[in-house]
Amino acid sequence: MTTFSGNGFKKKSINADTQAMLEVARKNGIETVWDRLEKQQPQCGYCNLGTSCRICAMGPCRVDPFGDGPQKGVCGADADIIVARNLARMIAAGASSHSDHGRDILETLYRVGEGQTDVYTITDGDKLKRLAADYGIPTDGKSNSQIAKDLAWEMMEDYGMRRERLPRSKRAPQARQEIWNKTGVYPRGIDRENVEMLHRTHMGVDNDWVNILLHAVRTGLSDGWGGSMIATELSDVMFGTPKPVVSQVNLGTLKADHVNIALHGHNPMLSDVIVQAAQDPELVRLAKEKGAAGINLGWPVRHRKGRPKPCRRPTAGAGRGVTGRGGR
Ligand code: SF4
Repeated sequence: MTTFSGNGFKKKSINADTQAMLEVARKNGIETVWDRLEKQQPQCGYCNLGTSCRICAMGPCRVDPFGDGPQKGVCGADADIIVARNLARMIAAGASSHSDHGRDILETLYRVGEGQTDVYTITDGDKLKRLAADYGIPTDGKSNSQIAKDLAWEMMEDYGMRRERLPRSKRAPQARQEIWNKTGVYPRGIDRENVEMLHRTHMGVDNDWVNILLHAVRTGLSDGWGGSMIATELSDVMFGTPKPVVSQVNLGTLKADHVNIALHGHNPMLSDVIVQAAQDPELVRLAKEKGAAGINLGWPVRHRKGRPKPCRRPTAGAGRGVTGRGGR
């Protein structure tokens, strides 16, 4: 059995398994992110500093950070404005991604409430009721499905423009909320802040970099106290509230004699269905018919689903060698 130490890859990652797998990839001619990064060298200095812009069709423009070349884009934006716009748009992209993930889960909860799906269900009814109470939704005499539908309908409003403040943001410490009020960055609606960010950073709109960055803060807050929080809360309601569990992580979860499925559990909508499918007797039978011992899931969903057997205690050198077949 070949063992890979990963010794030549210590500068790429601090993780011993990753070092070993980089060595496996190199030996097998598999391209990794590190190879692609190397091929990109030297990366564009203007883009690295954020002083290049291609927001409108008059560009692309770039501002010379050393003062010799152009100091303004065609529209008149200087380096401060261009850097602020670029950063603000990156924040809007990140906040939108997280918040849209929350929207998927929210739509699913609504469908669960409407009885349109039996693939997903309410797992933590107590949390559902607590959240409903937080939103002022009466729960007495209602089924979990009815509460889920009413709560989802109300939370959809968090994405719009009818609220003056995102309801979840009242969980922040009072002193923090006062700072948001004072600086005018209290988040109102999730989609609203993101769209306004794109609007303000378009050519010829907001030409004050402080103003742009303050709204970038509000956009980030709309994700943290809006979209991301909705995603987390509703994932608990539907997939179970996580508890501390002992588990294996990383490449040690792979099994050489199983069908291995590496799950991304960040958005649990798909991975939860795969967990169900992996226990389907028909699919397990099919895996065995093809010569595997079973179906093995690896595994960011373990914090909600637990794991089937106790963790092995790490031994000296554990994680430092990976067999050439990807298992240990
Ligand atoms: S927005 Fe201004 S700096 Fe950016 S590409 Fe257009 S003209 Fe150039």
